[in-house]
Amino acid sequence: DYMLWNHEIVERKAENAMVSFEDRGYQFGDGVYEVIRIYDGKLHALDWHLDRLFYSMEQLAIRAPFSRSEIKQLLKQLTETNKFTADGKLYLQVTRGMQPRDHVYMEELDAIFYATVDCFDQPVEMWEKGVKVTLQEDIRWLRCDIKSLNLLGNVLARTKAQRNGYHEPLFHRDGIVRECGASNFYMIKDGVIHTHPTNNYILGGITRKKVLMFAEELAIPVEEREITVEELQEADECFLTATPLEIVPITQIDHQPIDHNQIGKITKRLQQYYRKRVYDFLE
Ligand code: PLP
Repeated sequence: DYMLWNHEIVERKAENAMVSFEDRGYQFGDGVYEVIRIYDGKLHALDWHLDRLFYSMEQLAIRAPFSRSEIKQLLKQLTETNKFTADGKLYLQVTRGMQPRDHVYMEELDAIFYATVDCFDQPVEMWEKGVKVTLQEDIRWLRCDIKSLNLLGNVLARTKAQRNGYHEPLFHRDGIVRECGASNFYMIKDGVIHTHPTNNYILGGITRKKVLMFAEELAIPVEEREITVEELQEADECFLTATPLEIVPITQIDHQPIDHNQIGKITKRLQQYYRKRVYDFLE
């Protein structure tokens, strides 16, 4: 197995990719990341992921250690070197760099980055059976639009949810449903898909972007708006989306069954369409 370690493809071994105790990613979670799906050995929606990566770096004033074309080439080289032909996912991380510990970052640090690829089985069972989610107060910071490495709010919430038998926490803040611990949330009511607008309260998911595009292609109306916690009681269908999972139906929110614990019609239709269209985004 090979990994990308800064500008080089190296054998995937700890001694080939050592970080200093003064790496700001290690000390403060000062860095950003992306997770990109691989289908049939090819990277999926690469340009959209790179748009978001550069956005995250820009928002944190992390000096990009690569140009867009350079990282594109390196990531493709990584999947090719691994002779990757199956389904998988690529993890890419960029930290601001090294300096003596100080909240205040120096301007000219050299960012450190790495990427790995791993096999990944399609989560067929989740697609077919759906998952349960549990409402939790959103204790994360107010820049959820940045794909930051600092995930403690998500870590605590998701661990608690899973220990209690739920797949994901469903975050609410100020009475508004935001998103899940590692996925975006959607509610269907009277044939309309409702989902939170992209702003600082949620991560603008790449899967979300595709789902909204596909809904338009299927002529399913979408409203990007704030959904209150109370409204969930009237939901016809709910689902979540994330890069590794695609579209996963939600069959239960805490003790409330959604659509009699069944997978809703519109959710199913979107899932099937997504499975077909996803292969149009490979490179
Ligand atoms: N929201 C959060 C908090 C996430 O961590 C993720 C990542 O998977 C998503 C939403 C979904 O984003 P994407 O569809 O780009 O994977």
